[in-house]
Amino acid sequence: MALLEVSGLSVSYGRVAALNDVSLTVREGEIVTVLGANGAGKSTLLRAILGAVPAKAGGVTFAGEDVSREPPHARIARGLCLVPEGRRILISLSVEENLLLGAHMRRDTEAVRREMDAIYGRFPNLAERRKMLASCLSGGEQQMLAIGRAMMARPRLMMLDEPSLGLSPLFVSKLFALIRELNAEGLSVLLVEQNTTKALAVAHGATVLELGRVIMAGDPKALAADPRLQEAYLGEG
Ligand code: ATP
Repeated sequence: MALLEVSGLSVSYGRVAALNDVSLTVREGEIVTVLGANGAGKSTLLRAILGAVPAKAGGVTFAGEDVSREPPHARIARGLCLVPEGRRILISLSVEENLLLGAHMRRDTEAVRREMDAIYGRFPNLAERRKMLASCLSGGEQQMLAIGRAMMARPRLMMLDEPSLGLSPLFVSKLFALIRELNAEGLSVLLVEQNTTKALAVAHGATVLELGRVIMAGDPKALAADPRLQEAYLGEG
């Protein structure tokens, strides 16, 4: 079943067309990756799916419902979430306060507590540092916190914007292992990545954007072997 369906989405910033007629589907249980050079429109696509930037044309359907006219908080309540580029955790708050922010729309305190315990179980480093300021965490731990915060809202689809950016190779491996693990537990994922090789290796589907348009889409293995993609993005693979 299609969990997320983006159809003919166009977004402009003033006169700059950032996305042009972009369509993609994420089926329940899938990891779909969106690749493309800087400025291709990847972040704009994620923000438009969340409703954080208005679409000029096209629509977004989530779990069978047209959410195109809904504000971000309503889409989040349906199970969409975005871990933005650069993490955007609040460094002047503690680890625990950051996690609680992810659950601010939930009123079921007991369940929120259980969710937090589950996140601490998954990320022992965060559990040990729960009372510390988030500024004390390493880049990799901050990324885990950003993902943990998103999980507090119990999402069905997690959108991740360049989560491996600036992380050490060890943390990049941990991050991709975590993405696989969350996916195996049932979370669907829309993953924007510069680390093309690793992203194609975990994904069930892939879309390549160039100047706001889809130029290739399909099976990640086939794309990984495509000379055009090799030339453009897989040079350092
Ligand atoms: P990056 O990896 O550098 O974030 P991206 O693929 O995510 O790139 P976007 O950030 O979505 O690309 O940008 C797409 C286009 O829209 C670019 O031409 C960019 O300059 C422009 N753009 C992005 N945000 C804004 C904004 N707030 N106002 C004006 N133009 C913007």
